[in-house]
Amino acid sequence: MATQKTSAADFLPDRINLKSLREAAAQCRGCELYRHATQTVFGAGPRRAGLLMVGEMPGDQEDLQGKPFVGPAGRLLDEAITAAGLDRDDVYLTNAVKHFRWEPRGKRRLHKTPSARQVEACKPWLQAEMLVVKPPIVVCLGATAAKALMGKDFRITQQRGELLVSSWADWTIATHHPSAVLRAPEHQERERLRGELVDDLHLAAQQLFRVTGRPAGEHGSARERRSARHRAGGGSG
Ligand code: SF4
Repeated sequence: MATQKTSAADFLPDRINLKSLREAAAQCRGCELYRHATQTVFGAGPRRAGLLMVGEMPGDQEDLQGKPFVGPAGRLLDEAITAAGLDRDDVYLTNAVKHFRWEPRGKRRLHKTPSARQVEACKPWLQAEMLVVKPPIVVCLGATAAKALMGKDFRITQQRGELLVSSWADWTIATHHPSAVLRAPEHQERERLRGELVDDLHLAAQQLFRVTGRPAGEHGSARERRSARHRAGGGSG
């Protein structure tokens, strides 16, 4: 009888690159979420992206298409990325959890927030993506991603929009998930959240430029980044 798998760590490939990770993640059974999802939705973007953005998990459209951020939230994120002076092609996009968790509501599949245990089980994929991409800046989109990366006590309501030092990258910043912007019932509230999302991404873009001296997607080697940071007079804090 097969051994019970409890985490994505059991499915990591021996040689780690984005292709091998994507192929291995397609077979992941590290938690129960694969059972009712169409497919694994792995991260997408260039291996040397300047920014790595982490959302919560794929939604209905992402689950069907097998790509992150292709539904309505993805379109809003595209707009915010452009408004912040970034290019989506220069950003690596992924999620804290790689399978869609949902519950039926009539004929619709309604998003259901992944549990802390499922986020933890899926974390080896995120850690491996970070190891390969080595982004200077990580952007957490929403509370699930922020807690996954910054710890369970992280409060996005209090620390949103701050450039923080973490073990994941030179700089980490948390902002609203685009789905949270879309869910706001009032137009005025949606506009406020959308403005904050753009402002936070703009701050990330500015910091990327400070750290690397280049726009997103062209951030060069870690050595070049250290040298650019030194020139800019920035420390690690
Ligand atoms: S959600 Fe993550 S850990 Fe769970 S089965 Fe999918 S890829 Fe594996």
